Amino acid sequence: MKYVNEFRQKELAHKIAENIKAEVQPDRDYHIMEFCGGHTHAIFRYGVQDLMPKNVHYVHGPGCPVCVLPIPRIDNAIELCERHNVILCTYGDMMRVPASQKKSLIKAKAAGADVRMVYSTQNALELARQNPERDVVFFAIGFETTTPPTAIALQQARKERLMNFSVFCNHVLTPSAIGHILDSEDPQADAQVALDGFLGPSHVSSVIGTKPYEPAVEKYKKPVVIAGFEPLDVMQASLMLIRQINEGRCEVENEYHRVVTRDGNLKAQQLVAEVFELRDTFEWRGLGWMEKSALQIRAPFAQWDAEKRFELSKSTGRDVKGCACPDILRGMKKPTDCKLFGTICTPEDPQGACMVSSEGSCAAYWSYGRFRMDNKGSENAA
Ligand code: SF4
Repeated sequence: MKYVNEFRQKELAHKIAENIKAEVQPDRDYHIMEFCGGHTHAIFRYGVQDLMPKNVHYVHGPGCPVCVLPIPRIDNAIELCERHNVILCTYGDMMRVPASQKKSLIKAKAAGADVRMVYSTQNALELARQNPERDVVFFAIGFETTTPPTAIALQQARKERLMNFSVFCNHVLTPSAIGHILDSEDPQADAQVALDGFLGPSHVSSVIGTKPYEPAVEKYKKPVVIAGFEPLDVMQASLMLIRQINEGRCEVENEYHRVVTRDGNLKAQQLVAEVFELRDTFEWRGLGWMEKSALQIRAPFAQWDAEKRFELSKSTGRDVKGCACPDILRGMKKPTDCKLFGTICTPEDPQGACMVSSEGSCAAYWSYGRFRMDNKGSENAA
């Protein structure tokens, strides 16, 4: 398979592992944050960590779009279908994420709310066309990768005067989150994360390019290497980071150049800029309120903005007691540090978002058995 099998070859993986071993300095530790859940899953699924020297540590970051959405926004989505009687369209993972009062969208659906799982914004638009007597709301989540399709849907709805369609917008921005995590390295801050560099997201960067990371790299003096989601991508990008760290360089480098350019997809960026603008502030699960870290729908599209069309309560819902998702999303803890992991919290009965989402760290630990290695005392498990 072109561009997949080539990046999973065992012999090449061992060769890169040897190069890493040769370049790693034995008297120091390397803490590399993989921002994206896609990288976390590649690391666990292909055993990348096991090929690394013991002093190279992967720290799991907040790059899972389902995990970073705070409970009040999920409460609002439930409120849309329960109180405002809309058809709420959402991606599959979002259905099972716990909200406050032990609710979730799937439980709301079981109780009679009209929640529909969709695969794309186009499915949601089609539902609106088929149900002109009902309000249809698309629950939009995700980083820069999923934002252009939402922008297209809003433009289509306006063009067709599809007045029963609207978007509950929760799109968030990657570079702001990286900056915020590095801000928390301030020794005066509560949360301290020792990081030496970042594996940058691949799909997000195919849209925004590598340029938006440059200000953070310049400001915080931590290197970023954009990496694809295959195991050899992750390993090669790790080698590039280790080289930068050894040489004292701090640059944005691009391992995923078969897809990502410095400028990114200008057409998609233009589309997003026409429909969305920066929010002043937005709450992220684990990272709290962050300025200019999310998007809202521009005034010309206000009629298709669910937050303007429907009155929504100010929920104060929080994670269940004992759930360590917020610390895991900041890279402060690993899933096995959570007392609920594998006992009360399992994929069948998730207590937090990190166990639900296919990109969540807890789900990755569970799916690939990483916690069993931890229990045997492996030092290299995370
Ligand atoms: S194991 Fe469950 S409760 Fe604990 S951090 Fe992960 S998702 Fe949250």
